[in-house]
Amino acid sequence: MQIYENDIKKMVEQVLQQLGQGQTAEVPAQIHVEISLGDGVFDTVDEAAAAARIAWGKLRKLTTATRKQMIENMREISRNHANELAQLAVEETKLGKVEDKIAKILLAANKTPGVEDLVSTAYSGDDGLTLVEYAPIGVFGSITPSTNPAATVINNSISLIAAGNTVVYNPHPSAKRVSIKTLKLLNQAIVAAGGPENALTSVASPNLETSAQVMNHPKVNALVVTGGGPVVNAAMAVGKKVIAAGPGNPPVVVDETAIIAKAAADIVKGASFDNNVLCTAEKEVFVVDKVANLLKAEMVKNGAIELKGIQFEKLLEKVLVKKNDKFYPNRDFIGKDASVILQAAGFQANPNVKLIIAETTKDHPLVMTEMLMPILPIVRVPDVDQAIELAVIAEKGNRHTAIMHSQNITNLTKMAQEIQATIFVKNGPSVAGLGFESEGFTTLTIAGPTGEGLTSAKTFTRQRRCVLVDGFRII
Ligand code: NAD
Repeated sequence: MQIYENDIKKMVEQVLQQLGQGQTAEVPAQIHVEISLGDGVFDTVDEAAAAARIAWGKLRKLTTATRKQMIENMREISRNHANELAQLAVEETKLGKVEDKIAKILLAANKTPGVEDLVSTAYSGDDGLTLVEYAPIGVFGSITPSTNPAATVINNSISLIAAGNTVVYNPHPSAKRVSIKTLKLLNQAIVAAGGPENALTSVASPNLETSAQVMNHPKVNALVVTGGGPVVNAAMAVGKKVIAAGPGNPPVVVDETAIIAKAAADIVKGASFDNNVLCTAEKEVFVVDKVANLLKAEMVKNGAIELKGIQFEKLLEKVLVKKNDKFYPNRDFIGKDASVILQAAGFQANPNVKLIIAETTKDHPLVMTEMLMPILPIVRVPDVDQAIELAVIAEKGNRHTAIMHSQNITNLTKMAQEIQATIFVKNGPSVAGLGFESEGFTTLTIAGPTGEGLTSAKTFTRQRRCVLVDGFRII
């Protein structure tokens, strides 16, 4: 037998009622039952999926008003615990910076669209009335990354619950504590609004095996995965509907018309935000020769340090790993502070250094590898056309994110057309593309590989058409 939190509350209320009426309360002598508070965390994927399926059955029957209240509560609990979750994320994953994790959590809590994202369309005329509305899909499997653990769980949960789905999560193993803590808080918020227990579930010890089990589970109707290439490929091989958010390698183009002081400040801000672990962060710069020196000087004024020659070689020895003729980032330095990376390479480092910059060739491993570290290679090019051409190559067809600093509308248009990215930020830091200190909603799941792009509640729905025929004819 399982007793849920609501049952316990009812029992306590009954006892208190009896006491209030001067009766002797009958308190059960001893209850030998397994007490599950329905917090969403289970030993096995089977249990997690079964609970999410039951929760979906309940969620479907609730009113939109209740669903809206659930979303409001989820936003509030996320805001209230932003500091604690950010600290836990950095402590557990050893990636990024607490203040930037707080900003990401608040962004997800405040700017992920809720139920209002689902606007039905009505067609009315002589032949009747047709309504196209956004209906839930059912139980989603969501695989989440280590780089934005709490923010992704908040963002995905708001989107998925607003759309009327429930979720089986498989958080990244190295972010399981913070991800599961976030999920439990969100479940509390859902239940407090009158929603079902276990609307969000997970196994207590997620790993690669449970990730595959979640993806293939018969009770899981569809998948949303946020991570690198291997998880995207694994999900796409399953044969279910997949919304896949994969890696990026966002290039920045700076032409001679850019306001260089602002471009430099924006690039340092975006590339150093959370130590560059965001998939949307600036990963390489292509700058027109005429303004390259000025750009570097202004970046240094904004907290960057430039490495050259032997110093740069020493750094590369630390941060790059070569396997089978391919370069990979050294995982020890992913998401670390610039000063920590510099120290490891043997330099005295000012702890206030935000970003390491270095001039490289166009096909340098730092340019072509998603490093996820506060290290930004800068490539000098003769003109903007070449900058755009190289940016397209460096973006590798991810269709993810690109940034450009320019005052020339023709150049900006050319870049937009050539790069075909999901997010294209003009004259701002990359984080603006997520709605941070800019207009528009946010998402932490940018689905390039499967084409949905910026995900929100309606991404996780199916369209349902209700047709009333001949509604206006009197027979
Ligand atoms: P990761 O790919 O190592 O892990 C992501 C999740 O996938 C984890 O839960 C992991 O357990 C699971 N996973 C990994 N390989 C798997 C496999 N073969 N089969 C099944 N499950 C598997 O990602 P990470 O290091 O935590 O995050 C960084 C990566 O994610 C970067 O490449 C970044 O660009 C990308 N990312 C993309 C977006 C986006 O919106 N497009 C957002 C955040 C991160």
